[in-house]
Amino acid sequence: MISVVLPAYNEADNIEPAVSEISKVLTGCGEEYELVFISDGSTDGTYEKVQTIAKSDTHVKGAEFSRNFGKEAAIFAGLSLASGDAVIVMDCDLQHPVSVLPEMIKKWKGGAEVVEGIKNSRGKESIFHKMSAGLFYGIMSRLIKIDMNASSDFKLLDRKAVDALLELPESNTFFRALTFWIGFKSDKVYYDVEERRNGKSKWSTRGLINYAIRNATSFSTMPLKLITTMGWIFIVFAIILGIQTLVRFFTGTSADGFTTVILLLLIVGGFMMLSLGIAGHYIARIYEEVKGRPRFIIRDTTDSLVGNLKGQWK
Ligand code: UDP
Ligand code: MG
Repeated sequence: MISVVLPAYNEADNIEPAVSEISKVLTGCGEEYELVFISDGSTDGTYEKVQTIAKSDTHVKGAEFSRNFGKEAAIFAGLSLASGDAVIVMDCDLQHPVSVLPEMIKKWKGGAEVVEGIKNSRGKESIFHKMSAGLFYGIMSRLIKIDMNASSDFKLLDRKAVDALLELPESNTFFRALTFWIGFKSDKVYYDVEERRNGKSKWSTRGLINYAIRNATSFSTMPLKLITTMGWIFIVFAIILGIQTLVRFFTGTSADGFTTVILLLLIVGGFMMLSLGIAGHYIARIYEEVKGRPRFIIRDTTDSLVGNLKGQWK
């Protein structure tokens, strides 16, 4: 059986189209399937929609969070609740085209344990969004030494890969990168991002920046090493400048130097605060992990999902 996990935050109008289009494709492939909607604390009746459809269509299942916990949490809740031999994660605004599902399934049957959906184009996003996404994935690819460009949350995972993900102990998860990290035999399918069906994107620029910082600091310690490198560069400068100053002092040619002192103070002060800030982000991550709070709280599930939670999310 194949499970499709669909995180949904205020997507009431998209549930019906998603169900009918995905069902059509999967039935066409001759696959047994279930659709698992995770309503991420929606306030527009998304979960009620799922419940209503679930009454007449046994393929449709769903759960509702007690509040908005974010897409990452919704994805992991879905993985934990799904019981298929393969799990497909896709957006429920149908921006991830259902037409590539047969190809994904074919690659899985051909032996791939992780099938990554790779974006051909980024669809109709603003220039600013494209550039910042490009920058973020460029840096992330460097940091985790894996090419993340054009990667997305649209993936098919074999049961083995899903179980491996669910056993990871951390609560700060970054689905997109973790599927690379766990390894397994992987393959790719390419797709064009479609236009959002109904409603509008849930991401604000601020939300995206926070998402980027959180993921960079929960996935890599490179920024911390960068601080050390910066420290070394400063020390080299300090030695050169120190020698020059001393020589000038003893030869009696030392200048007033007020400008230099102020500039040095400002530059060093700036770098110090930046370094403290970077270290602070790591302390924040440690603090969050140490508290060990659950990544999400489920308020209700459809009957078909009761008792299904797996892995560390039980
Ligand atoms: N989503 C979610 N929780 C959130 C934000 C978004 O579950 O806090 C879901 C949303 O319902 C959609 C998917 O994540 O299915 C992608 O969100 P969106 O379409 O807003 O992002 P974009 O496609 O613009 O990147
Ligand atoms: Mg979308």
